[in-house]
Amino acid sequence: MQKLTQLLLIFILAFSSNALFATSNVNDTAINIIQLPINYSKERTDLSIEYLKNRHGITQSTPVIKPVMIVLHFTDGGTIKSIHDYFNSPTIEDSRAINKRVSALNVGSQFLIDRDGKIYQLMPDNYLARHAIGLNYCAIGVENIGSDKNPLTEEQVIANAGLVRHLAKKYKIEYLIGHSEYTAFKNTALWKETDPKYITYKSDPGKKFMEGVRALTKDLNLKSNP
Ligand SMILES: [Zn+2]
Repeated sequence: MQKLTQLLLIFILAFSSNALFATSNVNDTAINIIQLPINYSKERTDLSIEYLKNRHGITQSTPVIKPVMIVLHFTDGGTIKSIHDYFNSPTIEDSRAINKRVSALNVGSQFLIDRDGKIYQLMPDNYLARHAIGLNYCAIGVENIGSDKNPLTEEQVIANAGLVRHLAKKYKIEYLIGHSEYTAFKNTALWKETDPKYITYKSDPGKKFMEGVRALTKDLNLKSNP
């Protein structure tokens, strides 16, 4: 009899925690974000303020942005450590000649997601990162470890969706796009780039991945184009 009571209790507990999990899953805010800051040094700050002025035509004394868009990317290889090390330099490497011509500020992103879905935050989510021409002043960048050869994982789809949901609660996010989709914003009011010829064409993070993240965040009604 006692055993039966115990069994019943276990069953009730298991059932109620499952029910709780299912409910909290819909509006999940409790995502785990691991802090792994790059050095947002005085040099990086100055270069970011200069980038806002020269590239976007925005004059301000801090690198703080008002995010209305999230741009998802893949890194085209590397690991959390190698990408963190790469972004840590305030200045861009010489081989990125097209980018270097217009600004010495290094590329970067606010977030970086590993293939197992672990989310790393590299800088405050409202500090400028250089990841999408014309849109950095209003866009949060999320990089994912992966490439065309190593497509992004299901864990990354779930993690990106969770992060988008978290950021959409915090900021008035209107747009969710993949880097490959950003050129659609050229010639719209949102696009701010002083050189009309400065543009690059990208394939990341992949169509299937974007479909996956959008399916999980459908209820947020984020726009995919202007
Ligand atoms: Zn990209």
